[in-house]
Amino acid sequence: MAQTNQPDIFDIAVVGGGPSGRIAALTLAQAGFSCALFAPPSAKPDGRTTALWQQSIDLLRDIGIWAEIEATAAPLKKMRMIDGTGRLLRAPEVTFDSSELGMEEFGFNILNSNLNAVLEIFCDKQENLTIVGESVEAACFDGSCARLTTRDGQSVSARLAVAADGRNSFLRETAGIDVKRWSYPQVAVVLNLEHRLPHQHVSTEFHTATGPFTLVPLPGRQSALVCVETEDGAAKLLAMKQEQLERELERRSHSIVGAFKLASKPQSFPLSGMNAKTLTGERLALIGETAHVFPPIGAQGLNLSLRDILDLRDILLSARVRQADPGSTAVLSAYEAKRRGDIKTRTNAVDLLNRSLLTSFLPVQAARSTGLYLAGKFGPLRRLLMHEGMTPGSSFRPGRPAGRPPVNS
Ligand SMILES: Cc1cc2nc3c(=O)[nH]c(=O)nc-3n(C[C@H](O)[C@H](O)[C@H](O)COP(=O)(O)OP(=O)(O)OC[C@H]3O[C@@H](n4cnc5c(N)ncnc54)[C@H](O)[C@@H]3O)c2cc1C
Repeated sequence: MAQTNQPDIFDIAVVGGGPSGRIAALTLAQAGFSCALFAPPSAKPDGRTTALWQQSIDLLRDIGIWAEIEATAAPLKKMRMIDGTGRLLRAPEVTFDSSELGMEEFGFNILNSNLNAVLEIFCDKQENLTIVGESVEAACFDGSCARLTTRDGQSVSARLAVAADGRNSFLRETAGIDVKRWSYPQVAVVLNLEHRLPHQHVSTEFHTATGPFTLVPLPGRQSALVCVETEDGAAKLLAMKQEQLERELERRSHSIVGAFKLASKPQSFPLSGMNAKTLTGERLALIGETAHVFPPIGAQGLNLSLRDILDLRDILLSARVRQADPGSTAVLSAYEAKRRGDIKTRTNAVDLLNRSLLTSFLPVQAARSTGLYLAGKFGPLRRLLMHEGMTPGSSFRPGRPAGRPPVNS
């Protein structure tokens, strides 16, 4: 263990060294809770990028890591949606502009490798936080605490265990929490590209009949691509030689940012989803991909996880004011009640968007086209959609701007 002055029983033990686990551990330790973090070394570097909305960036700023990430992040100022389905009923092009919400940008696209490296450095030096560099291999939960043990016999007791050990969570399974899993007949091909023309901080999403083809800005003349394809289509793309793949992707992007050069090796992710049937067990709260998995559409996954963390922190802080046990049933019920709606809404929205692209059922195509037509035409609806896409159930009212004011206004 990295720190020697550890308590006999911690307030909180976070399990999982991915972004959700590390951000939770930093947030809770900085809120004054004594924390342990189980973070085994990661198996391989993460070549992906993550688009984080303003509320998530504010959390990274609050925990002191944003200044270390900002220089390698790209602001996302506009989002353009283009119907590339080639179907009879096509939606008109719609552009969502952050300035319409009175914001400088919707958020930023960041490199996962950077985020993970900075988080590791900050966790190592955080007061109140003891790092255990091993996986949890045994867990028991009882009336008084959660007891977590590694293969080499290191053991931690805590009033509350926070499971952030990913989609195949050992903690969730040990606690007997069931999940609902589903899959889609699609694969996301993910890579970074250099291009000849500037992206002007516009993220462009082509809606195609096999799923979204999305270019998300990176610093300079680079973008991250998430191309959702059928299984066969993805296999064909992955089998292409570099130049052939560059030409094919440029063709699919209608050359909007000119010719492409690959800037990373293509990776593929079969599309699937998962929801835990409950978010809590005895002395246990689930966050991040332990609680909910999304296909990479609409940049929802980690943003939602950070809202899990913010809500958990607020509930624990108000429990502390009442001198309540952080792992008590009251705390856990409040967490379950607070998070359930947000997770359900996001799951349904991403599922609906993906399925509305795949369907050949004309009324569904018509509904999607009409929705985008109305969003393009009516400012208040467009602003409501932009706001809900980033921060659900906020105080935003259609017709008046919201969010952080632009820096130069
Ligand atoms: C292609 C792609 C693009 C994406 N783009 C976006 C985006 O733009 N915006 C967005 O918000 N989200 C995005 N996401 C989702 C986002 O990447 C995930 O939500 C996020 O990475 C999940 O982080 P996590 O920490 O919850 O889980 P993980 O990253 O899976 O971390 C789990 C951790 O737990 C550890 N662990 C496992 N078992 C144990 C154990 N027994 N003991 C201790 N530790 C253990 C593992 O080593 C791992 O480090 C994307 C996802 C994909 C696939």
